[in-house]
Amino acid sequence: MKILVIEDEIQLADALSELLKRSMYSVDVFNNGIDGLDNALTGIYDCILLDIMLPGMNGIEVLKNLRTEKINTPVLLLTAKSEVDDKINGLDCGADDYLTKPFVTGELLARVRALTRRKGEIVDENRLEYHGLELRKNTCSISCGGNDVKLSLKEYNVMEMLIANPGQILPKERIIEKIWGCESDVEYNNIEVYISFLRKKLTAIAAEVQIKTARGIGYFME
Ligand code: CA
Repeated sequence: MKILVIEDEIQLADALSELLKRSMYSVDVFNNGIDGLDNALTGIYDCILLDIMLPGMNGIEVLKNLRTEKINTPVLLLTAKSEVDDKINGLDCGADDYLTKPFVTGELLARVRALTRRKGEIVDENRLEYHGLELRKNTCSISCGGNDVKLSLKEYNVMEMLIANPGQILPKERIIEKIWGCESDVEYNNIEVYISFLRKKLTAIAAEVQIKTARGIGYFME
């Protein structure tokens, strides 16, 4: 899962980044509101940690812009004690939660976990279920009934994205950006190759669900 941190206190930003990476999140950090917003607008993040007092553009403005552009990524506001009004304003503008600085790391991680809970049914941290299909993180595998098949890490990531957004068409660009990163050279036919591997594996385990193609757009689970 991918987290965006927008925080101008470098030490705090670095500490957050380290903490999240240790918890197996992939993390991007920006130290001002403008770059933060630019990146948040890609819609590729699972959660955004957003400071309020930021150079360039403050966190509330970043949030307003995001919601105006219909980017619904969960936002956790990081607020100082003195910023009570901003906090209320932030929640009114579409923040999902807030945390007052200084905070303990355990609480931050718990809030992030709560905000990134997927739409596919999460059985526990390591398993994601969808119509009899079970995706297991610890073994990097997918199973249905008693059948089980291993996935490569990239296949797992693609599958996780599809199961987490059931019935929703995921554009190819979004999948590529999220899994290979914005600057990747991955071509559209690479993603097609991964999808074809995954389809074969779904057939091999006799899964009820299929990865469907939305012509010219992307893929969805059904
Ligand atoms: Ca700040």
